[in-house]
Amino acid sequence: MSYLVLARKWRPRTFDELVGQDHVRRALTNALDSGRIHHAFLFTGTRGVGKTTIARIFAKSLNCERGVTSKPCGECSACRDIDAGRFVDLLEVDAASRTKVDDTRELLENVQYAPARGRYKVYLIDEVHMLSTHSFNALLKTLEEPPPHVKFLLATTDPQKLPVTVLSRCLQFHLRRLPLALIQDRLASIAQAEGIESEPAALRAIARSAEGSMRDALSLLDQVIAFGGGRVLEAEARTLLGTLDRRHVETILNALADQDGAALMECAARLDERAPDYTQALAELAASIQRMALLQALPDLRGEDEEQDAALATLAGRFTPEDLQLLYQIAILARRDLDYAPDARGGFEMALLRMLAFRPEAMNVGATAPRAATPPASGPAR
Ligand SMILES: [Zn+2]
Repeated sequence: MSYLVLARKWRPRTFDELVGQDHVRRALTNALDSGRIHHAFLFTGTRGVGKTTIARIFAKSLNCERGVTSKPCGECSACRDIDAGRFVDLLEVDAASRTKVDDTRELLENVQYAPARGRYKVYLIDEVHMLSTHSFNALLKTLEEPPPHVKFLLATTDPQKLPVTVLSRCLQFHLRRLPLALIQDRLASIAQAEGIESEPAALRAIARSAEGSMRDALSLLDQVIAFGGGRVLEAEARTLLGTLDRRHVETILNALADQDGAALMECAARLDERAPDYTQALAELAASIQRMALLQALPDLRGEDEEQDAALATLAGRFTPEDLQLLYQIAILARRDLDYAPDARGGFEMALLRMLAFRPEAMNVGATAPRAATPPASGPAR
């Protein structure tokens, strides 16, 4: 038997299991429970935030053999076939790969036929904005006079490209990127259920790299598990994700506070051995600096990661607010300009050297900006 990837194994099967998107869950369960179900829904939002998952749960709710319900049983053959992706009356179409007029016409001609097995035929048309004009017109005609046994679930990452005539006939929901903490919690509970040892910092790094997409987070978790021989440790996760771990961030910021160019370049060299993704590394650095600025301004702030906050608060004590603003600006501009650097490592190193050269406090006290190879100063700069 082939290994089932986590994203599929742990795909939520009921509205109760759905993580995030509470506004959509509420609207759909209310509609199902009241029996007033609109015939066309439009889900907008980025990839990997639950469009297919929601469509499948909705299809089960409509077709569960125990009746239309917001809590499909998950056991009848309709529920099980939908979960397995082989239910004939759930038609999933990716318009991005099916823009040919004939295909869509064929699809929409079949709309008129009654469902083969279930109560409703459910059409999930993903990336609906990619349909040709001709296909749009065909779809529109169907939306104007939908047969009673059909529900449309349209999804798009780019609603601007949809004609108003389509928008006005759909109930529209925006699916949000999932918050970092929500993804991290989900990863933790899945790791626990799978009996996989995991470090919170590793899960957090994965969650951050996923940028709001649960599917991306789970596929990264798969990769880290494989890479780490069944364990999810921070060092391995960072290596795989190409991100900075917190020890690197702390070393870099301490070297900057010390005005220690040698330590700074040594850290860059150690980092390079792991062939990091420098765009990600600069993003991590910027995120840490931003957190430091926040902790400086709001000392009583309590975050999800108290240990890391404590370390960053200590570091923040070594910089003025103006310093942190400047360091942050240098980090994000370097990230933006990384493609223009002769090579990524060079671009990263230049950013660190710029941070070293432009520390205003050091300049204010009349010190000249030290060169990269300057040996460590006898004491920290004031
Ligand atoms: Zn069922």
